[in-house]
Amino acid sequence: MTQSSSPAVAAGPFSSWLLKMRRSLLGSEGMDVPCGDCVGCCVSGYSLQLRPEDYKAAARIPTTFVVNAAPGFAKGNLTVAALPDGLCPMLEDRKCTIYSDRPQTCLDYDCRIFAAAGIDAGGDDKVVINTRVRAWEFAYPELLDRQEHDAVRAAAAFIRDRRDSFSVRVPAGPMGIAVFAIKSYRVFLDSSVTSKSDAEIARAILEAARSFDSGAALS
Ligand code: SF4
Ligand code: SF4
Repeated sequence: MTQSSSPAVAAGPFSSWLLKMRRSLLGSEGMDVPCGDCVGCCVSGYSLQLRPEDYKAAARIPTTFVVNAAPGFAKGNLTVAALPDGLCPMLEDRKCTIYSDRPQTCLDYDCRIFAAAGIDAGGDDKVVINTRVRAWEFAYPELLDRQEHDAVRAAAAFIRDRRDSFSVRVPAGPMGIAVFAIKSYRVFLDSSVTSKSDAEIARAILEAARSFDSGAALS
């Protein structure tokens, strides 16, 4: 399937977005995406995780659409499976029918993460999202904005292309790669990275990601 291009959409200053995204990944704040009339994530075959705190959403979603947690989701959570055509069952006329009570997963999703990482959101079932991903345009008011974006892209490319350099399995899907790059990008801010072996870089990435997960690397 071909992917159409669309006019650029302002994604905001890169470093501000990056800090917010890193805080969001640690659960301390959500994202506020200027989606406009895009409903890409509601039509792209995603299964929605329903956590216990999504009780308001759960009360409004017909039980026929709710199943036990899909693989990869936390045990005990519930899942709203996408319809066979990829649409979320709660979407009607391109509008979310439970918008004010939509699950946290919907609140947290920010497709700018793919634009940040320089990768697509996925294949043919993610065409609508990919169109938006390619339209996002970050701003670089300071040198650091550009340096950080370059570093996130370099981290994502390394994680995607040098999987064999890691001593453990690393994410292979687009979202996993992008999140891992956001956690570990600072490895590529260090100019000495170019003199390191792939194995050394891989170790540094794992260490940066662990440090991030412990909350120690956030500033
Ligand atoms: S694909 Fe991106 S812009 Fe579109 S609705 Fe989802 S988060 Fe918003
Ligand atoms: S619950 Fe609403 S916002 Fe979330 S995917 Fe479904 S239609 Fe979209």
